[in-house]
Amino acid sequence: MKIHNFSAGPCILPQVVFDKMAAACIDFNNSGTSILEISHRRKDAVEIIDTARALVKELMNVPESHDVVFMQGGASLQFPVVALNFLKEGGKAAYLQTGKWAENAIKEAKRFGEIEVVASSKDKNYNYIPKDYQIPTDADYFHCTSNNTIFGTQMKAFPSTEVPLVCDMSSDILSKKVDVSKFGLIYAGAQKNMGPAGSAVAIVQKDLLGKTGRNIPDYLNYEVHIKKESSFNTWPVIAIYGVMLNLQWLKEQGGVDAIAKINTAKAETMYSEIDRNALFTGTAAVEDRSQMNATFVLNNEELKADFDVMLKEAGIVSLAGHRDVGGYRASMYNALPLESVQVLVEVMKQFEQKFG
Ligand SMILES: *Cc1c(COP(=O)(O)O)cnc(C)c1O
Repeated sequence: MKIHNFSAGPCILPQVVFDKMAAACIDFNNSGTSILEISHRRKDAVEIIDTARALVKELMNVPESHDVVFMQGGASLQFPVVALNFLKEGGKAAYLQTGKWAENAIKEAKRFGEIEVVASSKDKNYNYIPKDYQIPTDADYFHCTSNNTIFGTQMKAFPSTEVPLVCDMSSDILSKKVDVSKFGLIYAGAQKNMGPAGSAVAIVQKDLLGKTGRNIPDYLNYEVHIKKESSFNTWPVIAIYGVMLNLQWLKEQGGVDAIAKINTAKAETMYSEIDRNALFTGTAAVEDRSQMNATFVLNNEELKADFDVMLKEAGIVSLAGHRDVGGYRASMYNALPLESVQVLVEVMKQFEQKFG
């Protein structure tokens, strides 16, 4: 049976990525060796990470002022790394608190200095994006989360400020066009739109680095990774190979602009049904709805078992909402075809006919 995987991350990737990764595990590039047993310094391995970095630059139109590095530790390691590289000794940073991941970013940054939370949507279980807030001009940077994976909200615009913009784009990077030149730093854990788990990408404005006065451990220092071209230490060759293949696939689809159109079509299909169907309610404020993660609940929880059976029969998996929201969450990352959303919508319609 065809499976429709709505997982929030690690998530669905294009089939070609799975096929090529599987083949590389047996024999990489007809070399007689598995990709799992080769040095990250071998020529064809170095080519992987060079190509992956170049593709990020190309697909996101990264200006010369910025560089792209891959690190490990996911987005969670970036939380303290951001502060170490951008928050001056005795300095202050501003944060927008729009969800669980923003909370974690704030918690880690607080270890290194004063953090001002300029606005929070915690009062309504993070179901909206605060809009009226002031960014203090003496902040070393302003940090926000572009897409709140758990709560299904997404920033549709970024504030214009002289303070460097730092953004956790883990769950919507490469899903639509972004003007990288407006950001001091963009970072993302790989496993939602970039590739398999095992790395994080950071797109860094170079002239902002080296100014905190801190004694930064090498691995946590963006300058070190830039200088070593992401090969400071042993990086996960198979994981970055997956990222590279996924980026090549995206390029073949026509890049970010082309995928953005499909992502919009998927989100419109999904939200129209959530709004039309009398048995469901969307949980996020309409104007802040995420194109990547649609969160919704059953109006009558007693029907849950029946709906879940219908989902299972249709091959729909990983639709359960995060425990902080409950209900359901349809994650519609780049590799999820429109067809999968149409199958889900069809199941919701049949469910309404039967139980509505
Ligand atoms: C998943 C996620 C994270 C955490 O990513 P890890 O790579 O698991 O550390 C952080 N921020 C956002 C927005 C996420 O969606």
